[in-house]
Amino acid sequence: LISDNTTFQAGVHLMGKDTSSLSSFPRLEGKVAIVTGGARGIGEATVRLFVKHGAKVVIGDIEDSLGTALADSLAPSTTYVHCDVSIEDDVSKLVDTAVSQHGRVDILFNNAGILGSQTKSKKSILNFDPTEFDQIMSVNVKGMALGIKHAARVMIPRGGGCIISTSSVAGCMGGLGPHTYTASKHAIVGLTKNTACELGRFGIRVNCISPFGVATSMLINAWRSCGDEDDDNEDGMDCGDEVEKMEEFVRGLANLKGATLKPKDIAEAALYLASDESKYVSGHNLVVDGGFTSSKNCVG
Ligand code: NAD
Repeated sequence: LISDNTTFQAGVHLMGKDTSSLSSFPRLEGKVAIVTGGARGIGEATVRLFVKHGAKVVIGDIEDSLGTALADSLAPSTTYVHCDVSIEDDVSKLVDTAVSQHGRVDILFNNAGILGSQTKSKKSILNFDPTEFDQIMSVNVKGMALGIKHAARVMIPRGGGCIISTSSVAGCMGGLGPHTYTASKHAIVGLTKNTACELGRFGIRVNCISPFGVATSMLINAWRSCGDEDDDNEDGMDCGDEVEKMEEFVRGLANLKGATLKPKDIAEAALYLASDESKYVSGHNLVVDGGFTSSKNCVG
């Protein structure tokens, strides 16, 4: 319910803009954003939404052909930079490219992540694989910490900014993903809280988002290999009707009925955290899961 006063304020705010709906109000006009893991999936949906809302976006990813094609399709609002988030020089270069092209960085969407093996045997802690552990932690945790470090480096002198990292419902509870992925996503929630505490004094807000199951390549791959001993599926494949099956499965688990979770729904959460509407929100984990984690024991 919107109070009369809120409606009035929104109306004043929107004067001279397209008022067909609140979501068409450009909420990132003039802002400069970096999106890691922006070549596909949740990152791609966020790039598209941020551009729609007036931002200039620099995409960092390792999927060069996908990233370049996306950036070209949204030119001149986007640029693609090859960036492996687990390599500090790459992350530093990504941030410096945004500054040299646009003069500053207002928003970092720290989103690149990997899941690791979903096969039954590899999922067990009894088969803990230190090499895979290092790979996942290096992208999911070190990559996010490097993103925060280098974004803060350029945000502090400008007096503020906004950092959003992608955690997961696997960062809120156990038993949803492989153990190392779960550990890495819990770490992102901790990293968010700690850095929000440290960087708040510089006007930098730090938050994270915890999505539930979104039928991206990551989840479709996991879906295909789950229970299989053969985990050699290719990324970026044509998922066909597996997307629908995955979405149906997720709808069945969510407490909230009638809605289907899409990459754009996570992008909308990122948009809220990136925009001035959330100017007093920091250190928060925004869970986008249709009530799953809060109601898994719901009996009513
Ligand atoms: P995705 O596989 O479609 O996209 C991930 C992107 O990250 C890809 O473009 C990939 O190339 C990129 N990437 C991977 N390793 C990288 C690296 N070292 N450096 C830079 N880029 C790299 O998956 P997605 O579902 O869009 O995942 C995005 C984020 O959302 C991840 O952090 C993931 O853990 C998280 N997440 C996803 C779900 C889901 O259900 N899909 C749920 C919870 C959290």
